[in-house]
Amino acid sequence: MPELPEVETVRRRLAPLLEGRRFERVEISDARLTRPFESGLVARELEGECVESLDRRGKYLIVRFESGLSLLIHLRMTGSLRHAAAGSLPDDPYRRAVVRLDDKSDVAYRDVRRFGTWLILAPGELDGYLDARVGPEPLDASFRAPVLGARLTGRRVPVKAAILDQRTVAGVGNIYADEALWRARIHPLREARSLDGSELKELRRRLRQVLELGIARQGSTLRDYSLPDGEAGGMQAEFKVYGRANEPCDRCGTPIERIRVGGRGTWYCPTCQLSPHALASRGHL
Ligand SMILES: [Zn+2]
Repeated sequence: MPELPEVETVRRRLAPLLEGRRFERVEISDARLTRPFESGLVARELEGECVESLDRRGKYLIVRFESGLSLLIHLRMTGSLRHAAAGSLPDDPYRRAVVRLDDKSDVAYRDVRRFGTWLILAPGELDGYLDARVGPEPLDASFRAPVLGARLTGRRVPVKAAILDQRTVAGVGNIYADEALWRARIHPLREARSLDGSELKELRRRLRQVLELGIARQGSTLRDYSLPDGEAGGMQAEFKVYGRANEPCDRCGTPIERIRVGGRGTWYCPTCQLSPHALASRGHL
């Protein structure tokens, strides 16, 4: 599933292709994409709109139009965007929408599992919509350890589950959560409220580090994610724990273990990331 680095990579690639362009023709072939709104009506509403900017908030892509309307795109599990010069889009049975721009190039939306969404918001609706769903941006300078701490205070859920909650921190999903926790040496099952000041600082620092590395590597391509020109990302080569069950930990050689946390597959090093039980027996919790 695309997380902050993948969505940010798509944004950076598409922004110069979209900004200043007009949506000349919009075809939405999957009614699910725009539910509960009728896809034909959404398409007609988008036609003629001029793109002011392409932004991102958490895992949302935001197409802001000069009219004040915005189109909020969430790729969910398997959504991806492809840009191609006029008439050069390859055939694709999973294509759900195509936007023809006024330079005759196409932006195509592909989604195998069809969980992605396109939502039009009227002028003035965007901030409230996002603020209700998405917490602080982890790469903003204002995302300091106390900001993270305030969102974990009093929460008994596993810290992994807490940071997957988009209201705790925007854009972190299963891959980058596991990678950040390994780098911070924090066990994914630790209660969110149990982290002390130095652990919070470390978690904040490592979250930013893995997200920045993910952007530098242009995201991780496991199955569906690709860049708008069809290229793959390279972050998967940097994974320390994600998907690496039984492989030796880079730091200590202990085989990586896989458990489930909040219903999600979770990888960690049992030596570097001490369990709550092990910490308690050493008097640390
Ligand atoms: Zn280790």
